[in-house]
Amino acid sequence: MADLELLSAEVAKANKALPLARLVTMHSGNASGYSPEDDILFIKPSGMDYDEITPENVVPVRVSSGEVLAQGVRPSVDLPHHLFLYRNMPEIRGVIHTHSNFATAFAAVGKPVPLVLTAIADEFGAEIPCTPYVDNEGEHIGEAILKYKNRAPAILLGNHGVFAWGKSPRDAVKAAVMIEDVAKTVWLAMQIGKPHEIPPEEAEKWYDRYHNRYGQSQV
Ligand SMILES: [Zn+2]
Repeated sequence: MADLELLSAEVAKANKALPLARLVTMHSGNASGYSPEDDILFIKPSGMDYDEITPENVVPVRVSSGEVLAQGVRPSVDLPHHLFLYRNMPEIRGVIHTHSNFATAFAAVGKPVPLVLTAIADEFGAEIPCTPYVDNEGEHIGEAILKYKNRAPAILLGNHGVFAWGKSPRDAVKAAVMIEDVAKTVWLAMQIGKPHEIPPEEAEKWYDRYHNRYGQSQV
């Protein structure tokens, strides 16, 4: 139970981070977090202002059945896509969906964010792919994400927006922030010239350093 309280607090915090990082306008994004031990995810309530979100009102959902476990509150309409990703990507614990502007501009023209910055190599280890357009019925969005994703913890949905994920809701926020940040830099670069791709073997060096030696976790 204590772990679920922690998770609901983390999911509330991840949702509140979206407008603070300027990744959403009005209600156009959502975050969730998953506890496989409890078979439960928490997700943003549908249509709620971000400043009203608390650990008490994020919506618990049983992941195996999709059953909403709270009375009188509707989960985000994007719940089916979050459920699909948790069911099909067993390592992930946090998922974010946004229509953040620069990343979604690439999605509007159906282009990946190319691997042209060391920051992209660090965080994503590859270009950030873009799926073709899919509608919002059934599992179409989830299936497109599974089909087109690479090692990057984020993807563009053609004509739509961003899905990002991670080993926690906080990691998913980071991926959602970083895809917008690098998309903005690449877009700026495209105004003044043609960005150069980083060769895969060079990208690997940056990815390896960032994922295996960067930060304080192994001190
Ligand atoms: Zn959307």
